[in-house]
Amino acid sequence: MEKGLLFVVSAPAGCGKDTILGELFKKTDKAGYAVSATTRAPREGEIDGVHYHFLTRDDFSEKIKRGEVLEYTEYCGNFYGTLKKSVDDLILSGKDAVLKIEVEGAMNIKKMFPEACLVFILPPSLEILEKRLRGRGTETEEKIRERTLQAKNELAFAKNYDYLVVNDDLSEAVEDVLSVFRAEKLRRERRAGLIERISGEKT
Ligand code: ADP
Ligand code: 5GP
Repeated sequence: MEKGLLFVVSAPAGCGKDTILGELFKKTDKAGYAVSATTRAPREGEIDGVHYHFLTRDDFSEKIKRGEVLEYTEYCGNFYGTLKKSVDDLILSGKDAVLKIEVEGAMNIKKMFPEACLVFILPPSLEILEKRLRGRGTETEEKIRERTLQAKNELAFAKNYDYLVVNDDLSEAVEDVLSVFRAEKLRRERRAGLIERISGEKT
């Protein structure tokens, strides 16, 4: 069986990555979400093991010590980390693994796995971003200000990504991300042996 690919999707908070990926996973079963670990408290509606593995700081440190975390970072006072098992379970079953992680984690993943494909989601403007963050109603005013400031810093990293998607119209943004996933899978260098199989010749 062919191994799945590694996709990283990043966006400053409020840009719509949860919304876009939620819609995307309804449209494809070829890719799955690699569930991260975090020390942040669950938001209303978030389920342990589905949205995140919610861990205490001690349990998080223990996982790092045991080498079970591919990369991790501290973001707005909480730890977040990609679990090796979450990624392996997907790619070894032939599915593409989608990592929804912030910019520093994304850069580390690209260093570890140069073949990973990095997608950055941009808001139509910073004003719209702040409005969406406020509209979501999950953060205090202080956290919204902290995350908006963080967003400006994160936008500077967008230039290091392979693809940029603007989340203006939601369904268009979902289609854009799906198109990136589809196109990446068709890249010649990822299709070892295909030409030989069809032409019956060694190239
Ligand atoms: P993130 O996961 O990047 O933090 P969310 O997916 O939670 O962002 O989106 C933040 C808010 O913006 C949510 O309330 C969501 O419903 C809204 N939203 C997302 N995409 C759009 C869009 N294209 N148009 C309008 N509102 C959107
Ligand atoms: P939130 O608290 O909004 O769920 O996530 C905060 C930020 O942490 C988001 O940018 C999210 O993508 C990022 N994040 C979530 N999981 C991971 C992870 O495993 N590693 C890294 N580096 N960032 C993560």
